[in-house]
This record gives sequence, C-alpha cells and structure tokens, in this order.
Amino acid sequence: MSNYSKDFWHPMSHPNEIKQRESIHVVSGDGVYIKDDKGNELLDGVAGLWCVNVGHNRPEMKQAIMKQLDELEYFQLFDGVSHPRATEMAAKLVKMTEPENMKRAFFTSGGSDSVETALKLARQYHIINGQPERKKFISLRNAYHGLHFGGLSVGGINAFRRNYEPLLNNTVNVDAPWLYRNPWNCEDPDQLAQLCADQLAQEIEYQMPDTVAAFIAEPVMGAGGVIVPPEKYWPLVREVCDRYGILLIADEVVTGFGRSGSMFGSRGWGVAPDMMCLAKGISSGYIPLGAVMINERMEKAWDNNADFNGVIMTGYTYSGHPVACAAGIASLDIVENENLPENAKVQGAYLLNKLQGFADKFAKVGEVRGKGLMLAIDLVDDKVTRQPIDPTSGYANRVADIAREQGVLVRPVGTKIILSPPLTFQQEHCDKIAEALDKAFSTVKD
Ligand code: PMP
Repeated sequence: MSNYSKDFWHPMSHPNEIKQRESIHVVSGDGVYIKDDKGNELLDGVAGLWCVNVGHNRPEMKQAIMKQLDELEYFQLFDGVSHPRATEMAAKLVKMTEPENMKRAFFTSGGSDSVETALKLARQYHIINGQPERKKFISLRNAYHGLHFGGLSVGGINAFRRNYEPLLNNTVNVDAPWLYRNPWNCEDPDQLAQLCADQLAQEIEYQMPDTVAAFIAEPVMGAGGVIVPPEKYWPLVREVCDRYGILLIADEVVTGFGRSGSMFGSRGWGVAPDMMCLAKGISSGYIPLGAVMINERMEKAWDNNADFNGVIMTGYTYSGHPVACAAGIASLDIVENENLPENAKVQGAYLLNKLQGFADKFAKVGEVRGKGLMLAIDLVDDKVTRQPIDPTSGYANRVADIAREQGVLVRPVGTKIILSPPLTFQQEHCDKIAEALDKAFSTVKD
C-alpha cells in the first residue's frame, strides 16, 4: 500500500512497520507549506523536525548558499586553519550570546555532535582547572540529548537506550520539573521548582560534589514532551550548580534562536549557562550545522593553560563547513531582522490558547502545553489519574492522519502530538492547525 523507500532504513522506525503505513513523500516546500508527490499541499506543523525556523524556500538562504559555493565549497578548521564564513558566523554567535557571556563558538555538524562536544569539554575543563576527579554528569528524566553514546547516556527516554546499552558510566538523572506528572504530585510551580532543585542538590551530595562535572538540560524539554519548567526552576538550578562548582550545560538544540519565544531558551529563564549546545535553527535546517558556545569562565581556564591537557582533541570534518556557515549567517539575519522570537511568542500563545480548550472537549486530551512555538498535546486513557494513552493503540497516528487529510502535518509521538512549526507562522496558520486537529479529535474513535 505504501510508497515506502525500499533502499534505506528510516530513522526511528521498524523497517517492517513502515511497509504497512501510507508514507509521505515530500517533494517541495515553500514558506510554511510543503508538497507531497501526489500534489497535496500541507501546512508544515513541524518545521521539518523543529528546524526550518525561517520557513522553506527562502531566496535569501538560497542566494547565500549559492554565493558560497561559487567561492569555497569546503575547507577544514583543524590546527588553526580558518575561512571567512566560519569567522563571520562565530563572531555573529558570540555577539548574539553576549548577554549569556559566551566568548567562543566550537563548530559541530549537528545537535548530537554538539552535546558530545559539550560533555567532553566539561570533563576537560575540570582537568585543566585542577579538579580531574570531576567526571560525572547529571541530567533529567525524559530529556533528549541526541543519540550518540554520550547524549544517549545523559538522555532520559529509556526507549532510545534499550538496545544500545551499555552506555557511558557515571551518568545519573533526576526528576524533570514537570507540573503535569511528577513524583510529588505537586501542582504548585514555585514549590515544584524548589523540590526539583533540592533533589538535584541531594543527588550531587550523594554522588560527592567533587566527582560531578556538569548538569545538562534543555531549557524547555522538546522530544520528551514539551515540558515547560516553572519560572523559578532554572535560576535555582544555576544556584545549585554554582554552590557545588558544577558546570551548567543548556541543550538549546531546539530552543536556540527563538523557538520558545526568546532568542535562547536560557534567556527566557534569565539564566546564563556555562555552555550552550546549538543546532537545528542555527541554519534553519538548510544545511547541517551545530555549535557549542563556551563562556568566559571556560575560555579563561584554557587561556591560562599551556600544557598538553589543554589541546582540544575533538572536532569534525564538517565543523564550521563554509556552506553551512553561509546558510547560518543568512538564517540568523532573518531571525533577527524579522524578530522571529517575538513572533514565536505571540503566535505560540495564540495557538496554545486555541488548543487548550481541547482538554475539556475531548476525552483523550489530558493537557495541552507549550512555550513559544513548541507545543504538545498529551494524550491520556484516564484524565483523573493522567494515565498516558497506550502508545501501541495507534491513536496519535490516527489523529495525525486525519489532520493530514485536512492539509496539516503534525507529529504523532506515541502518547503525544507535537507541534513545532516554522517561526514565520501567522494567525491564519494557527487557526488552520486548530481546525484540523479539532476535526481529527472529533473523528477518531477510541
Ligand atoms: N538535543 C536536543 C534537545 C534535540 O532535540 C536534538 C534533536 N532533536 C538533539 C540534541 C540531537 O540533534 P541531532 O538530531 O541534530 O543530532
């Protein structure tokens, strides 16, 4: 029945299951719309995969990429070699992260690479800073930090880990600041922030503070179900990390460059991390690119180090790829010039408000939550106990299929429907998503 691709395995899928489903073959994109091979136009409610922040087919992007290809298609950055686009892009990133006191960019090829790099630099920082015992990482349950072994090890979604263990030693996780489901059944935001921060401090004490390298978290959890922490959570976490000399790594792969309604997720919480992992929106997905931003404290540690331990023995062939950097500069110019973080904030609040009524209207909708243009519809079997829907029931897929028939692409992920549209979305697009989902939830039988 399906026109599935026979010659490659799809990420995140069982090859046999894919054969049973009607697949979608995307052939073009323009603005906030994509087209499939049957000529159907679909509103892109997922921005590719949380990444096409400036929208599809932007002339400015294509021009920047073509111009760079005419000049220099590729060169490396190892051993002090550089090229103009990497230099310009790094300067732009440092400028954009001035409020967080970031001083350097380290380029990578994507989000998983950024996480891996940040974890390695955290350990190395402590070595050159005279505390070589600090090796452990603490992270959050439900977190998603990419799928390389380091990122998997600090990731908190066990389905991703199961068949790939054993993972990195010396990683532990603590509870996510999730108002809808937490072990304390706490529904008071301030109290939950404190409970989570206290739990983190207790875990650090238990692990022994002088063995802990870093705490890593997403400012707003994405793949784990768009978990928006209480306002006070991140400032409290910063305090805990400072109290114990632990680095704070913000995984901004999704939240970076406006998605959560501020230029960076950390900025939305008024917090300056020690490192920021970036990818996705950095180039709006036009060409793969990632970066880790490094703050002044870390820069200084390296500035004051002259021995072999300070050599950064990590990096990628495509670190700072010139064409990717050209795309990155063009994308970030658009993000700034069109004030897309503000648009994400305004349109996100509008869409959230429209969808929140679903929790009263539909039996299977437990909660709708979000910040900026990252939203999740949490599906439940029981509204009182908040028991998540059986992910094997196929309910989320059926909702998404009907939304698609209405011309809207959303992302079903087991027990949730995720929305992460381009940051150029306007009110009419939010209305269209809400109408399509209303129809879908009204139609799908339990
Ligand atoms: N961190 C976060 C928070 C992510 O959401 C993702 C990807 N969804 C990654 C890291 C990994 O990025 P990539 O898929 O580009 O390797």
